[in-house]
Amino acid sequence: LQSDPAHLSAVEKELENNLRPKEINEFAGQPQIIENLRIFIKAAKIRGEALDHVLFHGPPGLGKTTLSRIVAHEMGVQIKETSGPVIEKPGDLAGLLTNLQPNDVLFIDEIHRLSTVVEEYLYAAMEDYRIDIMIDSGPNARSIQIALNPFTLIGATTRSGLLTAPLLSRFAIKSRLEYYSAQTLEGILKRSAKLLQAPLLPEAAAEIARRSRGTPRIANGLLRRVRDFAMVLNDGTLDLGITQHALKALNVDEHGLDEMDNRILATIIEKFKGGPVGLTTIATAVGEEPGTLEEVYEPFLIQEGFIQRTPRGREVTAKAYEHLGKKPKAGNHP
Ligand code: ATP
Repeated sequence: LQSDPAHLSAVEKELENNLRPKEINEFAGQPQIIENLRIFIKAAKIRGEALDHVLFHGPPGLGKTTLSRIVAHEMGVQIKETSGPVIEKPGDLAGLLTNLQPNDVLFIDEIHRLSTVVEEYLYAAMEDYRIDIMIDSGPNARSIQIALNPFTLIGATTRSGLLTAPLLSRFAIKSRLEYYSAQTLEGILKRSAKLLQAPLLPEAAAEIARRSRGTPRIANGLLRRVRDFAMVLNDGTLDLGITQHALKALNVDEHGLDEMDNRILATIIEKFKGGPVGLTTIATAVGEEPGTLEEVYEPFLIQEGFIQRTPRGREVTAKAYEHLGKKPKAGNHP
């Protein structure tokens, strides 16, 4: 049920891949991003050029990898996938770049984790499709320039705040993925259920969608777990009863909040009297980095009205007290 891909097993990754939409028409939600991409892709194809470099940022599990593959598919090119920490040396980067065919996509996940040296080599590659590599050392050291085929770099990150200004400025297209509405998630679940040949009733789809933290990866994960319960305890039909039973057994929160979300709310209430309290103070108290708190957890809590930002820091709302079954302090919250 984790939204972090690092926690997925090989089998789950395989299942996740099977549920990935492959074409732009199958991708649900993110209408503004899709509309723009359609135009940019079409224009690049008319000109016969590589698509401009793209950065997808936003919380985990919202479809950055999926969209990147769709872009390559729609451009009619190959995609090579790697991730920031895997590219250790400039030579690794040169190897990847020199293997690209004209207009191919190089996808770098977790691009905020690129090392500084590698990142600097990337600048010239992005800008002029060339890479300068130092060979030999000492008095024989010299740099050779390798011309590259035109390519599109697609970077993905959950932590755009960690990207340097020079790297950011080299992405002509920057798109922030937003949480999905329950209604869009319902559509995604219905499509996934069809692919899994699981009879999913509409009320059950709505219930799973509502409790999936606005995240397709979580929705698909819950669907598979509910299907297990339905197969073993029922005739296999995913109805509302079995869905509620399964979600309860799985400890899935009524509002779709995860463990860290709840820990953040409980901490603000219990240790800081409901706030206002500074982001860094909360981060220390829950044992998370302030940046991760701000970019990965907080946006959902704010969107769903559990937390609000005030000039003096973060404050929980009456909804958060109610959710945790606690009474707001008199006079503290309306
Ligand atoms: P991370 O950055 O954490 O790797 P991500 O943003 O790259 O996550 P994906 O791996 O692309 O997310 O998507 C996770 C799962 O959610 C996939 O199984 C994919 O099928 C599904 N998914 C994501 N977005 C959509 C969508 N718009 N429509 C249908 N399914 C989607």
